[in-house]
Amino acid sequence: MHLSESDILRWLRETNESRIQTLYDTADRVRLENVGDAVHLRGLIEISNICCRQCTYCGIRAGNYRLRRYRLTRDDILACVQRAVTLGYGTVVMQGGEDYGISARWIAEIIRTIKRQTPLAVTLSLGERSDDELLQWAEAGADRYLLRFESSDAVLFARIHPPATGRETVDRIEQLKRLRSFGYEIGGGVMVGIPRQTLSSLAHDIAIFRELDLDMIGIGPYIPHPETPLGAKKHPGDPVEDQVPNTEQMTYRVVALARLVCPQANIPTTTALATINLAHGRELGLQRGANVIMPNLTPPEYRRLYEIYPEKACVHETDEQYYAHIAARVRSVGRFVGTGPGDRRR
Ligand code: SAH
Repeated sequence: MHLSESDILRWLRETNESRIQTLYDTADRVRLENVGDAVHLRGLIEISNICCRQCTYCGIRAGNYRLRRYRLTRDDILACVQRAVTLGYGTVVMQGGEDYGISARWIAEIIRTIKRQTPLAVTLSLGERSDDELLQWAEAGADRYLLRFESSDAVLFARIHPPATGRETVDRIEQLKRLRSFGYEIGGGVMVGIPRQTLSSLAHDIAIFRELDLDMIGIGPYIPHPETPLGAKKHPGDPVEDQVPNTEQMTYRVVALARLVCPQANIPTTTALATINLAHGRELGLQRGANVIMPNLTPPEYRRLYEIYPEKACVHETDEQYYAHIAARVRSVGRFVGTGPGDRRR
């Protein structure tokens, strides 16, 4: 089924419940046919909450002076990596703020160590680093890079992602193309329901998922953070016509459409989704197109400090509890935990 951008937009505007259910069922079938019933687990290590950026939505933005900052040590990171191996995960994801206290060489050495000592795939999500640094990390053995482009509407993106002092702002969509040329599997994505995001711009974002032929697509609801410019406002400007609601239902719809435009992609059911529906968010994501979960492996004392949004799901569990809980949820929807790195299938 080929969906044009206007078909996508029609699906985003659809109000008929039984037609929406058809969309979910189709996404679930396309998921089964293309990536099967395995749910791959990626252990998320939040290596630093230090950030030079001022993204107006994000709780770890430089301007949030209330947040205590941390950076994991090399030993901390390698201990998390060992836990990933013990728990049987196939991938570790090192994510963080855009922290220039972290040198490219330091990360490269850690990547080489992981690659030497474990069979794990390594995913990075460290923001808009220079091509030089991104190349060094690819050469060190990093397999994948996650960089959500957040919105393809340049005006909206500039508004929520102001330039950092002394740094160029990169076009994230172009950056993803370069990352692919450096040999990475590439992951993009968006938040659903950022103030002033319109349904038609969201339809365009989804069309871009296909144009970029993304290997991974991260989609979560926008969750206001009170210590940010966007989240502190009760009324963030005049409501725009066509505003995307930051709801669970709209998020599932975007997950389902992402599956239809990129049938083979790895699509996580995100922690943000679990945060707004702790009881069923993860499972419903898995039943509406998703095939990946990213359990948190960050040491518990730092997990709550990686506060991109408040009340992040699962900050209170140990890794073992977390793993047991997630594996049970995977089984409860008739799926199984995948083994191996879970590369993009082609
Ligand atoms: N510094 C990296 C990682 C950022 S955190 C980068 O910029 O790519 C990963 C993702 O969390 C972001 O891409 C964004 O989509 C999401 N995020 C940040 N703040 C959020 C919020 N308030 N609500 C929901 N998702 C948020």
